[in-house]
Amino acid sequence: MVRAKSATRSASDESPFKNGAKGQPLRLYQKFAKIVIDELRSGQYAVGDRMPAERDLAKKFEVSRPVVREAMLALEVLGLIEVRVGSGSYVVRLSGKQKDPGFDVTAFEQLEARMLFESEAAALAASQITDAEIGELESLVQAIRDENRWSDSAQEADMAFHLTIARATRNAVIERTVEGLWQLRSTSPECALMLEKARRANVRPVVDEHTVILEALQARDAQAARTAMHEHLGAVIDHLLFAIEEQAVMDARNSVTATRERFTQSIRG
Ligand SMILES: [Zn+2]
Repeated sequence: MVRAKSATRSASDESPFKNGAKGQPLRLYQKFAKIVIDELRSGQYAVGDRMPAERDLAKKFEVSRPVVREAMLALEVLGLIEVRVGSGSYVVRLSGKQKDPGFDVTAFEQLEARMLFESEAAALAASQITDAEIGELESLVQAIRDENRWSDSAQEADMAFHLTIARATRNAVIERTVEGLWQLRSTSPECALMLEKARRANVRPVVDEHTVILEALQARDAQAARTAMHEHLGAVIDHLLFAIEEQAVMDARNSVTATRERFTQSIRG
């Protein structure tokens, strides 16, 4: 019992959500992702090439298979490779000469900043929003409901909903700030990876939470709009933490399985 408890604790201590990742050493999968990015940059592969199998990469670089899997997911999120089920990973884009990807903004930081800005933006929008924009938000809530039916959707409607509210503040600086926060989803690999994992864990924008925000804006009630947005983004953070925890447990299980396989093989000689 005691051992299980301490194992759980050490897994969550390594969570990128504990602190901002700035200045912290890169995690193993990030180091490995950078190695592969350097390989792509150095011209070892051409677009369309198939990457070595997970097992072979793990062996070559002496890392565990979950580390390889995590790194490949990061590269997929960055749009460098494409993972085809049952076939392997293929190079779809070669890494350019741009700086190394900064793995320094976590999804948690992005969401915390969104909660701060977007709650106040919603309050301000309540007094500025036009009937046409209310109409847009109504159809976007419907679009969120529709998108949730497709497991592979890009959740565009959710983003459009939030950006419409930012625009309704009639403050270009607020609008641009909120847009910038949303862009981090694709420009920070750490952030992108966490959100992609949540998506794969079936975390979806909750329709009811958006309806409450919409109703507050319809009523032009600033306080209710602020509270509704705050609660919505608080719930998003909760869902994300839950998804990441589940993932950490699965990774630990996979890692044990990989270790067991390796030792079983070495015993058999
Ligand atoms: Zn939302």
